[in-house]
Amino acid sequence: SVSSSYCGRFAPSPSGPLHAGSAVAAVASFVDARAKGGKWLLRIEDLDTPRNAPGAVETILGQLQALGMDWDDDIVFQSRRIHAYQSAFDTLLSLNRVYPCGCTRREIADSAVQEASMRPNGERPYPGTCRLGLPAGRQALSWRVRVPEGLYRFEDRWQGWKEQEVARAVGDFVIKRADGIWAYQLAVVVDDAAQQITDIVRGEDLLTSTARQNMLRELFGYPQPNVLHVPLVMDQQGQKLSKQNGATALDLSRPLEVLQQAWVDLGFERVAANKIETFWSTAMSVWAQEPSRANLHGN
Ligand code: GLU
Repeated sequence: SVSSSYCGRFAPSPSGPLHAGSAVAAVASFVDARAKGGKWLLRIEDLDTPRNAPGAVETILGQLQALGMDWDDDIVFQSRRIHAYQSAFDTLLSLNRVYPCGCTRREIADSAVQEASMRPNGERPYPGTCRLGLPAGRQALSWRVRVPEGLYRFEDRWQGWKEQEVARAVGDFVIKRADGIWAYQLAVVVDDAAQQITDIVRGEDLLTSTARQNMLRELFGYPQPNVLHVPLVMDQQGQKLSKQNGATALDLSRPLEVLQQAWVDLGFERVAANKIETFWSTAMSVWAQEPSRANLHGN
């Protein structure tokens, strides 16, 4: 039962079934919400239609149910919220915070701007080519938001204080893609605000997106939620597990073992439990001692 204003969410993209890595994010966000007597909402991030896998939504819902993770309220599908992204975009447009960009990915990659640091994914920050207007003869491909100068700082509940100078590290970033699809960064901010999410718990791969999202929230006047980023699960080759890399789906013939593995991947000791219900109640009391990287073993 819900007894606090806490509202968390799990926001999988239906590009494939949940794997060991997504299980860690799901378990952490669920246990955090329930340990705090809060709500736990489910949002299907299905905007990137070329990446949606047939049947993945049903598979993901079945996996969560098998693991004893019951969500509150109706499931939100981003594909049904296009009007909300359009109206957020219109707001930015009226504030003169967005502009059309005619650069191709290749041009940005080849750009001579070397001074700024490389992003973790190896991309260079956008050099601002179209910021003052589309160069003659260019047509708009994507739309970018003007990133203000300055340092964006936030305290991650797991990782501590983080900061990023978005303008230098990322530059003006895309909020509407060249293929017309609303970018993740815009949709996630609009939806977290609409769903009144107080706490975002998700994988560490999104830590480098947080400053961008905080910046957008500031532009919209949305409240800043608490954030907690959990470690990624790596495969044998040291690569992050991902649906797109074809990571193996969870083995639901042994749901308790799946939960235990996710719990160990989070850095905790295995839970003494022979039933899913016992796993959750024990995990919640362990979690309630407010986890931080510092008090977990192995870190
Ligand atoms: N849809 C994203 C993913 O599957 C998660 C977005 C988020 O939690 O902010 O990785």
